[in-house]
Amino acid sequence: MALTGLQIQKLLPKTNCRECGSNTCMAFAMKLAAKKAEIAECPYASPEAIQVLGAASEPPVRGIALGPDRMLKLGEETVLYRHEKTFFHQTALAVNINDTDSSGMIKQTLTAIRDYRLERVGETIRIDMAAVTQRGTDVNAFAEVATKAWKTTGLPLVLRSGSPAALRAAAIAIKGSRSVLAAATQETLDELHSIAKDNDHILAVTAPDLDSLFGCVAKLRESGFQDILLQFQASSLAAQFQTNSAMRRAALKDAVKPLGYPFLRFLQDTDDLLKIAAAAITEIDKYGGICVLPVFDPALMAALMTLRLNIYTDPQKPIQVEPKVYPIGEPRPDSPVFVTTNFSLTYFTVSGEIENSGTSAWLVVPECEGMSVLTAWAAGKFSGASIAKFVKGVGLENQVSTREIVIPGYVAQISGELEENLPGWKVLVGPQDAADIESFVKMQKSKGKVQNGD
Ligand code: SF4
Repeated sequence: MALTGLQIQKLLPKTNCRECGSNTCMAFAMKLAAKKAEIAECPYASPEAIQVLGAASEPPVRGIALGPDRMLKLGEETVLYRHEKTFFHQTALAVNINDTDSSGMIKQTLTAIRDYRLERVGETIRIDMAAVTQRGTDVNAFAEVATKAWKTTGLPLVLRSGSPAALRAAAIAIKGSRSVLAAATQETLDELHSIAKDNDHILAVTAPDLDSLFGCVAKLRESGFQDILLQFQASSLAAQFQTNSAMRRAALKDAVKPLGYPFLRFLQDTDDLLKIAAAAITEIDKYGGICVLPVFDPALMAALMTLRLNIYTDPQKPIQVEPKVYPIGEPRPDSPVFVTTNFSLTYFTVSGEIENSGTSAWLVVPECEGMSVLTAWAAGKFSGASIAKFVKGVGLENQVSTREIVIPGYVAQISGELEENLPGWKVLVGPQDAADIESFVKMQKSKGKVQNGD
């Protein structure tokens, strides 16, 4: 539970010496309560205060960094619902291979994991991790497949085995990759803890019930080990949803520290892709840390990555594209000129529809702070005057011979103002919906307004 300012003040020296920059210990306590200061700023804080306040300032869901460069981050979440603030680190998606798969199958899957790319609203998205499951009994074979997975993909791995000996061999073989060992049980906790610690890997902990899981993690925490993931398998989709929600709620609302770690989940292997999709969607929607898919399916991956992008995009920070004039296709100086805002979704929709229309064009994208057309217009960021200023600023008049500019139909009212501010230009009011750009272009071509060669 977070401490109040009054509770914190009782732990401070109460001398009001001001060395922390606050006028009184109470003022400093209020800053600590609001997480706007750190106890280290008071040089006279007692060891007891440092211990209590240090624990209170621990993030509710611990951040875990994976990979040799520690670039894959999990956790550090502070809210249950995205609209309360934002989510920080998206669910990592991993694809599983088994050590008993044929060498051809292993090579094919690892290559697919390494080479997969999805382009979406200007971002290139890749698969985050590979997982290796031990199905056979040969410890060395498991370590060899792990090595192959690490060398082929360069990604951190999830190593899954019930044998500490196999996990030890694989953990040593891929030391430096900062991967995940899955999973320690009550019986193997001490042994796997030392393997993870000695080889700088993350340790997933599993147990048959939440009380036992709590006990295992509390034991690791007492030793000072914090590179922990929680792997709590559920018997059904409903149980998966409920358990993830209950554990995250306990961490965020009740400050249950042993449950304040990212989750790891292996999805059940089945031929039913829809079942796999439903389980993966539940993880992405409900606090999954790492979600291991049993198979590689490019269509499923694209759908999951698109969903994940939607969930983990900060709603308060619209994704923007750089304000500039974009060539669509291979435009010539006399190709048509369109204008829209720099909200990514708007830009990619409009540019895609211009491409679909079969014409080449110039797309003018002024600075609109990442707002959509109507929002930018209402905020005064997409007016005739501001568009004209941008057109002149980028030297469009020297770049193109066209003197017609197509504005979105939703802002037909700015056409007069734009013509006033862009002498010599004619403003054409385009369609309201980007989906109608193709028919708009066809109509303009039939009138001879758009060059048929474009
Ligand atoms: S430095 Fe410590 S003792 Fe001095 S005013 Fe700040 S909190 Fe109080």
